[in-house]
Amino acid sequence: MTLELKDYIATIPDYPEKGVIFRDISPLMADGTAYRQATNEIVQYAREKNVEMIVGPEARGFIVGCPVAYQLGIGFAPARKKGKLPNETISATYNLEYGTAELQLQKLAIKPGQRVLVTDDLLATGGTISATIEMVERLGGIVVGTAFIIELTELKGREKIKDYDMLSLIKY
Ligand code: IMP
Repeated sequence: MTLELKDYIATIPDYPEKGVIFRDISPLMADGTAYRQATNEIVQYAREKNVEMIVGPEARGFIVGCPVAYQLGIGFAPARKKGKLPNETISATYNLEYGTAELQLQKLAIKPGQRVLVTDDLLATGGTISATIEMVERLGGIVVGTAFIIELTELKGREKIKDYDMLSLIKY
């Protein structure tokens, strides 16, 4: 039986601030069948793309990417907020509604030429995923796909990453 994954997304009005509608994957993660179905759909996509490595941004990119990596028997590298990763790192900054944010990736995370899938829970404006993609490419990785549980279509993140293949399981 295939579940309707949208039934497992909570919608929280006025979070984290008034006027924002927050889409929350927590009920999906809490349901083993729904979480596995979402993971399996991304695993299938990653297989088609011959993915060799997965990179996801802090923190919900880990929740999406790690079970996929485990299932495929490949590696996962976290893109983390500034100052969280030891050893040599590279950084990318991106714009938030107010100000900028910075993500980092360990230099040893990617081998040149590796086929990489970038994952996150949700695509909004595309800033977070673009910064992650930029770092993977600076380390010589080939971004062969991007995968999200949720896509907020009105925010047009898809246009920002139009040069890359993309999978989103649920659209709003
Ligand atoms: P973007 O950089 O504008 O595409 O925003 C996507 C990033 O912000 C992702 O890492 C998401 O986890 C987070 N995000 C933005 N809006 C939401 C939301 O409604 N629910 C959950 N995460 C969100």
